Amino acid sequence: MAKDIEEVVDGEIIEGEVVDHNQKSELIIIAPHPDDEIIGTYKYLTDKKYTPIIIYSADLSAERKESTLKLKEFVNCRVQLFQMSIPVPLVQKENTFLFPDPSYELHPSHRIWGTMGEQLARAGYDVIFYSTNMNAPYIHEVKNPDEKRKLLEDVYPDQKSLWEFDHKYFLFEGHCKWVF
Ligand SMILES: [Zn+2]
Repeated sequence: MAKDIEEVVDGEIIEGEVVDHNQKSELIIIAPHPDDEIIGTYKYLTDKKYTPIIIYSADLSAERKESTLKLKEFVNCRVQLFQMSIPVPLVQKENTFLFPDPSYELHPSHRIWGTMGEQLARAGYDVIFYSTNMNAPYIHEVKNPDEKRKLLEDVYPDQKSLWEFDHKYFLFEGHCKWVF
């Protein structure tokens, strides 16, 4: 599997270990923008059980891509990729995907990625949706909001204005699965 990923995302692996042959399943976090992975999937990102693959939109500025890679200093992640869609070798039934929720998210880019997630979910893949807008009915309180805030500030100090006056971004998060 590792070889396939290298072939498909040629030149796009910025840094990090390539996918382990022996690992049966991968957790794949789709974060259209840097900070979505912390705001929406902090619980998974910081769970020692996982070493997620994180996929960001390819159309980010070089500067934002660069700052995103700082995340590795703080959490375990296998690799951070910048893509326009999910690399084919990663589309496996044994993998779990975390996508922005296409019905509760408002940002167009979140909706586009969320729709890809919906297609995978409808095709029988293991998809969990998250919301960064905190308007979804399944939002719950984060157990350690101070740590979540600290991680946001450590990795994305430039985005601080987003959560500085609106604490919902580190106080809450939510995940759901769709039943068909
Ligand atoms: Zn976003």
